[in-house]
Amino acid sequence: MDLHRWDADNEALVRDVVDHVLARLDDQPPITPAPTAEELDAAVGPTITPEGLGADGALRVYTDHLRPASIPCDDPRYLAFVASAPSIAANAFDFVVSTSSQCGSHWMDGAGMVHAENQALRWLADLAGLPSSAGGCFVTGGTMGNLSALVTARDAANRARADRGLDRPTRWAVVSSSSTHASVDSAARVMDVDVLHAELDDELRLTGPAVVDAIAARPDGTEVFAVVATAGTTNVGVVDALASVADACDDAGGIWMHVDGAYGGAGLAAPSVRHRYDGVERCDSLVVDPHKWLFSPFDCAALVYRDPEPARLAHTQHAGYLDPLTDHPVFNPCDHAHVLTRRARGVPFWFSLAVHGTDAYRDAIEHTLAVARAGRDMVVAADHLDLLVEPELSVVAFTRRGWGVDDYQAWCDQLLADGVAVMTPTTFDGEPAMRFCIVNPRTTVDDLAVILATLA
Ligand SMILES: *Cc1c(COP(=O)(O)O)cnc(C)c1O
Repeated sequence: MDLHRWDADNEALVRDVVDHVLARLDDQPPITPAPTAEELDAAVGPTITPEGLGADGALRVYTDHLRPASIPCDDPRYLAFVASAPSIAANAFDFVVSTSSQCGSHWMDGAGMVHAENQALRWLADLAGLPSSAGGCFVTGGTMGNLSALVTARDAANRARADRGLDRPTRWAVVSSSSTHASVDSAARVMDVDVLHAELDDELRLTGPAVVDAIAARPDGTEVFAVVATAGTTNVGVVDALASVADACDDAGGIWMHVDGAYGGAGLAAPSVRHRYDGVERCDSLVVDPHKWLFSPFDCAALVYRDPEPARLAHTQHAGYLDPLTDHPVFNPCDHAHVLTRRARGVPFWFSLAVHGTDAYRDAIEHTLAVARAGRDMVVAADHLDLLVEPELSVVAFTRRGWGVDDYQAWCDQLLADGVAVMTPTTFDGEPAMRFCIVNPRTTVDDLAVILATLA
């Protein structure tokens, strides 16, 4: 077979692949536990060979062995972690983006793709109440979004100090809390900056006064360049007290406020919970993962800056071969995150939004919230279960009376072995617990009832 020539063999290959895609979209594969590496190795055998397996051979390895060894995150009963539920339109357009060979880095050769992505980013910026200056780019995930935003924040803080004739501090630090996502600690390690943990209030929220205390307690020589507030904590779905955190950032002389809405940012589109985000409009940067609760395929995270200029200053790569691209007053997505070559990964999200309209997104998110509230009611009604936190978004966290960590793990293992659901235990306040995280509009109240019934 030829690598590039459009001939009968390649056409047949593409038709077989498309047939597979159609069959997959028409059918939810069963939930099955992962095989061991040895089992998979024995079943698959060598695949990278000098002569190649041919189209049929390679596709058969995928359909017979590789696909069944992985659990699709769009299963309505995939309720562990934060799953994903791409719309059919977004999934379909991912294929178009893949085959377009259009790079999403620079305006020069990606203007159409970038324009579409910017419209999708604008929708998110409008939901957050950010000014018309706002902009940014789509990155691989919340982890890369948080890192890129914090790199921008530190660069801006260094510039501000230099403008005032000050040297860099001995140590830079970011303020977060015990419920901040692990990726913020990870970003701090990459950046070699410190993390100062502020206390949570009784409602498990980061608040302005706690930020003030954390800043005041910083070691000598340490300065704070950013505060990370979370709009929907991963474990229990709490939205931090954003307006109060914004006040603290202002009072401390304009410290960068980053809002991590990787999971919960989608709730900005849901009128029933929108008030929880009051104050988000004052952030300097915001991350929302469409691959979590906004029905996009992996990997798609939106990074939006109130003002993209400090990001451009922090992230633009300079070289003789790049300057022709960057020396123009055009908007290059790759200048705003830690990336150069980039897939136009926001375009499937844009396409689905353009197809369905934002009302459909609002309704789908509201539906997941309603299912979560029904799940909450079932937990509260069960004598053997205790609700841990009143759900603010679509996470329902609970415990089973008398159970220890091994009981939870055994229960989750059994659900997986029986193909009933994907659940994983978590810890809350140091104690083992369970959580449903509902981001899939196809998850029903009945799905939750079936799972809860196995706890009786
Ligand atoms: C999932 C999550 C992240 C990390 O996002 P990835 O897309 O997995 O990299 C960051 N913050 C929060 C609050 C999250 O829920």
